[in-house]
Amino acid sequence: MPETPASQAAVIDLAARWARTVADTSYVPMDLPETQAYLTVLAEQVLQVWRSQPFDPEPARQVGSALVDGHFTNPDTLSRTLAMLPQALAGEAVDAVSLSRVGAVQGMLAAGYATRLQERTLAEQDAIRTATVVARGEAEMAARASEARFRAVFAGAAIGIGLGDANGKIIDANPALMKMLGFSLLEMRRRNVGDFMHPDDAQKVWKLYEQLILGFRESFQTAKQFLRSDGHAIWTHLTVSLIRDSLGKPEFQVAVIEDITDLRRLQNQLQHQADHDELTGLANRALFQRSLGQLTTDPVQGGRIGLCLIDLDGFKAINDSVGHAVGDQVLVEVASRLGAVSEKEGYLVARLGGDEFVILVPDTIGAQDVIAVAEAAFKAVERPITIAGRTYSVTASAGLVERATTSADTADLMRAADITLYWAKADGKDRWALFDYERSDREVAEYTLARMLPEALQNHEFHLAYQPLFTLATGLPSGVEALLRWHHPKLGNLLPARFIEAAEETGIIVPLGRWILQTACRQARTWAGRFADPLRISVNIAIRQLADRQLIQMIQTTLEENGLQPGQLQLELTERAVIGTDGEPLAVLRELADIGVRIAIDDFGTGYSNMTYLRRLPVCELKLAGSFINEVRPGGDSRKVDAQIVGSLVSLAHTLGMTVTAEEVETKAQAQALRELGCDTAQGNYFGAPSSPEEIQLMMDQHLPQMGGRY
Ligand code: C2E
Ligand code: MG
Ligand code: MG
Repeated sequence: MPETPASQAAVIDLAARWARTVADTSYVPMDLPETQAYLTVLAEQVLQVWRSQPFDPEPARQVGSALVDGHFTNPDTLSRTLAMLPQALAGEAVDAVSLSRVGAVQGMLAAGYATRLQERTLAEQDAIRTATVVARGEAEMAARASEARFRAVFAGAAIGIGLGDANGKIIDANPALMKMLGFSLLEMRRRNVGDFMHPDDAQKVWKLYEQLILGFRESFQTAKQFLRSDGHAIWTHLTVSLIRDSLGKPEFQVAVIEDITDLRRLQNQLQHQADHDELTGLANRALFQRSLGQLTTDPVQGGRIGLCLIDLDGFKAINDSVGHAVGDQVLVEVASRLGAVSEKEGYLVARLGGDEFVILVPDTIGAQDVIAVAEAAFKAVERPITIAGRTYSVTASAGLVERATTSADTADLMRAADITLYWAKADGKDRWALFDYERSDREVAEYTLARMLPEALQNHEFHLAYQPLFTLATGLPSGVEALLRWHHPKLGNLLPARFIEAAEETGIIVPLGRWILQTACRQARTWAGRFADPLRISVNIAIRQLADRQLIQMIQTTLEENGLQPGQLQLELTERAVIGTDGEPLAVLRELADIGVRIAIDDFGTGYSNMTYLRRLPVCELKLAGSFINEVRPGGDSRKVDAQIVGSLVSLAHTLGMTVTAEEVETKAQAQALRELGCDTAQGNYFGAPSSPEEIQLMMDQHLPQMGGRY
């Protein structure tokens, strides 16, 4: 959107176009050039509003009100002005932003117009009332002149005026009123004011009228419908005033009536446009939010409410493959089917944008009510859709929320529906999911943790714990595994299960992983000098880190800086991460293996990889998942099968030149059984839980004599 002030040429252009558009609509005492001159000022204002940054449509109100001030009071003037604006302002731009801006300018302009017109009507009505009262009250001498003045106003007014007696019998009506209602004076005189009440008139109108007749109020104003002689209803602004006799008793009533039917129709039309989606004709987000707001701001005791938020699956693919025009038709068809489903029950269905729809289910008893709506909607949507001879199949996912209206804040409900829709998508699409507080809390907590990760790295909230590995044949320590720990300032110590996935998803694992590798290697150096046979350090890495171009270089530098042999470093990748990985990550692994770094497959047995697949990888070690080990004990018959599996895995691994480490070894019995099965190393609470470097140091010192310590 341009930010520069409207150029003079654009102003003149708009004013000229505008003048031509409205030239013959109102009885204004101006010719075309004069009209254009008058509209030039307004055109400049309109263009200023259009180009305002940030966009603020409010000043367009003044333009609407200035139209009325210039006597452009025929509703045609307004409707033509509004019709002209989209082309005049947005030109060919049919993007959503331009359209919504045009709509906002139109709305404000129309609102200013309507308000001003009403003000003017009321002022006119007041003038007439004063004239009437003054006329009645003037001295006899002036009466004739006054009467003549009144007559002139009465007969010439463009506004309808009627006079009735205290009982409501109509005495007089001016030509404007007769024309407006379609009755002759004679016909009017046969009627009573009451006959002009419309069946839809609110109780309020009657009450006001009663109070007036009884002399309890001097006048009242209201918007009211009248029935014309041809049976059509018209909308009016009505002012009724009481005229008392010299003793103060109610004697006459004067009704001043302006026909606002066209204006009202226009306003309704604008309101409808503002509330409905152009493509599908369904309610739009604004109307939906208003309806939802009404239900939740004034909740019925014990009332419940449900939302069914629907999003089509893979709709983008339809749009991309067969084009937006067909995509739009699919949306129109889906909208009409959802409309039919909801209409039957009287529910509001709205299109929130794109391929997202929502059904508002009031007065629910429980979740089953929203579920029923979702299933009916799915059934409707999933019937094949035929457009131009081609058939399309569409499925949808839905997020359902159902709760007491007292605890349903609009924004909260929508957020819940959004999250739940996301669950339905994540769980495989073509299904609904029902909101559940526990799942949501968990996800919110994880989401929040994920956002805190970068700062945590900066603030040094991470540290490493080390868990010893033992050679089963000798019972001596062979290495340590570095395990990441997060000491969160508020939440305390957090295990990787809480955040490692988020770290991978957000990518923070790359810098974090670098820090882990460097820290672990530095730690290994402090231990290395102390033993003849240096401890191996095992570091877990995420597959994502393999995409880090500097990884290999960084590892080499780190090893050199700390005086470590490549074979002293083992990188652990989980079996799940490795399965299905191809191409570049594997190339990086091979390169690392070529340098001499050991590669281990972690949590082996939890995925579905097979040995043939693993043979393609440069793997030195398998780490058997804890779930395998738990069942392994020596001698026991029932555990025989597991023991046999572990046994054959071990011998197969050995055949392929890999060593085997058992994880989560918790008992002496397990350790014994694993040794018997030929397992090389073991790790687990039985040998030592993950500990601080100092604790590891102490433990090593105990084993020092056997390890050929230097001191
Ligand atoms: P992992 O690499 O398989 O690590 C072994 C896990 O088993 C550790 O959990 C350890 O505390 C636990 N454990 C050790 N002995 C026993 C035992 O006797 N019984 C039982 N039940 N568990 C035992 P932790 O430290 O919570 O780590 C969980 C996982 O998080 C690790 O599994 C690893 O996949 C990942 N992880 C840990 N540190 C890092 C890291 O620095 N980088 C990456 N990318 N992942 C890491
Ligand atoms: Mg590990
Ligand atoms: Mg493991």
